[in-house]
Amino acid sequence: MENRRSLPPTVTEEVTDDLARRTAAVDALLPQTQCGRCGYSACRPYAEAVAAGREDIDLCPPGGLYTLAALAELLGCEPPPAPGRGSLQVARVARVREADCIGCVRCLRACPVDAIVGAPGRMHTVLAQDCTGCELCLPVCPTACIVLEAAPTEPPAAVVRR
Ligand code: SF4
Ligand code: SF4
Ligand code: SF4
Repeated sequence: MENRRSLPPTVTEEVTDDLARRTAAVDALLPQTQCGRCGYSACRPYAEAVAAGREDIDLCPPGGLYTLAALAELLGCEPPPAPGRGSLQVARVARVREADCIGCVRCLRACPVDAIVGAPGRMHTVLAQDCTGCELCLPVCPTACIVLEAAPTEPPAAVVRR
């Protein structure tokens, strides 16, 4: 009996492989903060939808214009001109109002890119150059002392990874 592995791939297998490659390539360009601000539960499901052509490429606020341009180049399409939406929102970063911080470390644990420094019982600080503005730290703060403000002009390290 002929070994199945020696058979040429079917059209279905080739399409599946191509989609898997494109999904991996899209996912590799996303910030991987898993914040859900694109409307998907994490970066990977959003990548799958984009790669399959089911979703627009401008829904990732943490990635901002940098990720938008990278996705457009990868997929050979023009970024959609929709100011104010997703990637085209004004970039923001978190800041701790230090006087109100009780040092509970919840924000530090919630931050996916290690942009918060601090120690138990001590004031915490956000490293603006590393913050993607994913907002994951905001709901965990018991004193609501984390605010968002305009970001520096350079994109954060988690976005400029490649
Ligand atoms: S908004 Fe961007 S960083 Fe957040 S889960 Fe979606 S793709 Fe990932
Ligand atoms: S400091 Fe807050 S907003 Fe910034 S990356 Fe970390 S969790 Fe996201
Ligand atoms: S969650 Fe709020 S109170 Fe707790 S360490 Fe972070 S900024 Fe301070």
